[in-house]
Amino acid sequence: MSDLRDLYQEMILDHCKRPRNFHKLEEASTCAEGHNPLCGDRFTVYLNIKDGVVEDASFQGGGCAISTASASMMTESLKGKTITEVQDLFQKFHKLLTSESDSQEGAPDLGKLLVFSGVREFPVRVKCATLAWHTLRAALEEGLKTVTTE
Ligand code: ZN
Repeated sequence: MSDLRDLYQEMILDHCKRPRNFHKLEEASTCAEGHNPLCGDRFTVYLNIKDGVVEDASFQGGGCAISTASASMMTESLKGKTITEVQDLFQKFHKLLTSESDSQEGAPDLGKLLVFSGVREFPVRVKCATLAWHTLRAALEEGLKTVTTE
C-alpha cells in the first residue's frame, strides 16, 4: 500500500507543479468562482459546453497542492463527457472523499481521481480536494440557466 501511496503523492505533486488546463478559456460558455476560506484556495473554473457535452474545461487561480492538483485532474477528466456524466462523476468523487466506510464501491471508474482517496483521512483537506468540483457544479448550474434563456 505504501508504494501506491507514494505514487499517489507523486501524481498530486506533479499536477500541482505543472497544472493542466491552467488558463482562462476564452470561448467558455460558462464559468464560476470558488473559494475555500479555511485554506485560502480560490479558483475559477471555465467550461465550454456544446450540445450537452463538455468540449473544453480549464481553471485559473491559486491554492494548496491538493486543491490545485484536484482542479488540474478534474479539468482533464471532463472533456468529452456529457453533463449527466459530469454530475455522476461529481457524486462519485464526493462520495469517495466523504464516505466513512473503506468500501471502494463505485470507485473503479474514477480512474486517476482515486489518488485523492487518501485525503479522506484529513478532513480539513477534503474541502481543498472538492473545491474545484463544487465550483464545477456551480458553473454547470450557471450554464444551464444560460441555456434556458437563449
Ligand atoms: Zn487547500
